[in-house]
Amino acid sequence: MSLRVRFWGTRGSIPTPGPHTVRYGGNTPCLELRTASDQLLILDAGTGMRGLGRALMAGANGNPVRGEIFLTHAHWDHIQGLPFFAPIFERGNHFTIWGARSVDAAIERVVREQMSRLVFPVTFDAVSARIDFGELPEGGRSGDGYDMTTFALRHPGGALGYRITESGGSGGSFVYISDNELGDGGNYSTNADWRNRLVEFVRGARILVHDATYTAEEYGRHRGWGHSTYDDAVQLALDGSVEQLVLFHHKPERSDEDVERCAAECRAVVAAHGGRVSVIAAAEGMSLTV
Ligand SMILES: [Zn+2]
Ligand SMILES: [Zn+2]
Repeated sequence: MSLRVRFWGTRGSIPTPGPHTVRYGGNTPCLELRTASDQLLILDAGTGMRGLGRALMAGANGNPVRGEIFLTHAHWDHIQGLPFFAPIFERGNHFTIWGARSVDAAIERVVREQMSRLVFPVTFDAVSARIDFGELPEGGRSGDGYDMTTFALRHPGGALGYRITESGGSGGSFVYISDNELGDGGNYSTNADWRNRLVEFVRGARILVHDATYTAEEYGRHRGWGHSTYDDAVQLALDGSVEQLVLFHHKPERSDEDVERCAAECRAVVAAHGGRVSVIAAAEGMSLTV
């Protein structure tokens, strides 16, 4: 048995519907992860979460929907789908929303305030499912059927990376790093061996989903904005000997053709290094087995 992953949102920063984003998708980050025993884990609550919610309700057959929601951080593109996630408006459903210890006080506040009267017509008081808020212990947690470790990323305001492995299983690891600046442009408090520790964090993963927002040229104009080039993502995958790199958090301006070109360039880089990492681009609706 193994973990199964489905991508409901792959786009960074802002939804980008339209004819040029049909293949890779226009919804912002949301991943559905299923353990061998079919426990539901949701990574990020971007606008892709709306589609996930509809699918969960359609498949519930009157049974309660339960799951754990892990937020990497509270930027708009990672929380905006939550008020449109239909299962939270059904009594009997139960979700736990997990966030980082450092911003824990903010997680519940952020979720409540994005449904405040000033900016949204329905307040959090209308949420009839049971919602618990949890603070992730340093280092991660073990849940029903999985073990999770976390890593503090380089992103303005902070963000978490997640590494998830089926507990007790012989399966591989799934690593999710949505918003992260591998370049040296930001003013972060991370210490000198941060990248070495990150390489160890992703080491040997079967699948690494990583921020691939910029081209090298674009990055020059966006240093310190908290995102990586796809070249840097490839280098991390090579250094950590991961099996498959999934390019993620596509730049809003990136068309389907552009995304394909980026992935092809990444494969050429891997080949030039004599590496064995396979590289694909995250596409909305795509499913992977870890
Ligand atoms: Zn983002
Ligand atoms: Zn962000």
